[in-house]
Amino acid sequence: MVEGPSGKTIAALTGSSEAVIKGELRCMILSSCDRCCTEVKLKLAADFVYVCMVGSEEYGPGRQETECREEDYNRLYLKEPVIDLGPLYREQVFLSIPPQIICDESCRGLCQGCGTDLNKTSCECEQVENESPFAVLRQLKDR
Ligand SMILES: [Zn+2]
Ligand SMILES: [Zn+2]
Repeated sequence: MVEGPSGKTIAALTGSSEAVIKGELRCMILSSCDRCCTEVKLKLAADFVYVCMVGSEEYGPGRQETECREEDYNRLYLKEPVIDLGPLYREQVFLSIPPQIICDESCRGLCQGCGTDLNKTSCECEQVENESPFAVLRQLKDR
């Protein structure tokens, strides 16, 4: 079962045409393991801050300081003073998905040779995989 998403968002006006949105988002997604393709439940957590500005896309003078801290938050330019949270949440969910999804740290994945799920069973090709350059060196030495 997948838990429904939960979160909270606080919006505060910080100027005549500026608002700050702070939010937390917790949700669970179903994905598949990068190594063995098993279904993986992934808990996502995103904490985000958006600074929303209505109107101009340009910063006036005196805004340099905030511009330097660009990484701290996302900027959002609005044509109208209406904030649609849907796209923000969607963006945050995508951003919080890790680049690599694995079912378990110790997941052995699928055999690249025959596609066998190495978590469940082993296969013939496994030995080839284990052959490291060092093993070859050792063989040469033994001769
Ligand atoms: Zn896996
Ligand atoms: Zn194999």
